Amino acid sequence: MSNGEPTTALAVVLSGASGRMGQAVRACARRESEHYRVVATVGRTDHLSVSVEVGDAVIDFSEASITADLLAACRAHRKPLVIGTTGHDRDQRAAIAEAAAEIPIVFAANFSVGVNTLFWLTREAARILGPSFDLEVIEFHHRRKKDAPSGTARRLGEILAEARALSYDEDIRHGRAGLVGERPGGEIGVHAVRGGDVVGEHTVLFADVGERVELIHRASSRETFAIGALRAAAWLCGRSAGLYDMEDVLGLKNQPPEVRTQK
Ligand code: NAD
Repeated sequence: MSNGEPTTALAVVLSGASGRMGQAVRACARRESEHYRVVATVGRTDHLSVSVEVGDAVIDFSEASITADLLAACRAHRKPLVIGTTGHDRDQRAAIAEAAAEIPIVFAANFSVGVNTLFWLTREAARILGPSFDLEVIEFHHRRKKDAPSGTARRLGEILAEARALSYDEDIRHGRAGLVGERPGGEIGVHAVRGGDVVGEHTVLFADVGERVELIHRASSRETFAIGALRAAAWLCGRSAGLYDMEDVLGLKNQPPEVRTQK
């Protein structure tokens, strides 16, 4: 399987470059400089349109509030866009889908190979275990994370909701407090834990009477997200307009993950 790397250095415009993820992307691009070059960075005070113009693709790890401006600049210059930022509301998500009719976009809650395999395993486990198992998602992140639940926990919730023919908006339960009564079968718990410097942990819990299954992913470095975002940018170049996610980039959609010989 191709690892998705370009043969000549891809010119990347990086939004959110001074943040934790932005720094990780810059470090990975420096280390793989024959493949990736960060040619412009976008901060709070930069002129987006000017920066976007000079790249082959744009990668964004900033805040959801900037997405509308990024979409407009990428549409104007017909540039592919990788959105790693999480925490978008319904309107912001709709704007991303609308822009994807004109430009290719990878919008992914998580760029790691491990988490995208977790997405696949979650879908399969929900199908195999069936409706007698209660579904809960628990995520744990560092104290500086601003949005909750994490984009990855949200995606896991969406996958579980889809597998059970439930609605993400109506059937997700964020935490419990007070006299909440017995747990109904048709709900999916999604819980956010915050503390310290935890890069990211996600547990999907399938609990029945007498047994439970737990699928756990632990990230110990942001590098796995950064390299995945760079590969997604390379994968997008030359692709037709559309809304893609990391499962598309890795070829994990609707099929068993291939055995990977190279990370
Ligand atoms: P951070 O707070 O360390 O960095 C955010 C950066 O965005 C900062 O440099 C800030 O100055 C910049 N920024 C904020 N508003 C801006 C604006 N209006 N214009 C330009 N720049 C602006 O956060 P982080 O930990 O790097 O995470 C960034 C985002 O990426 C979050 O939404 C996080 O949830 C998400 N994330 C996604 C993945 C993934 O795999 N998809 C992995 C980790 C983090």
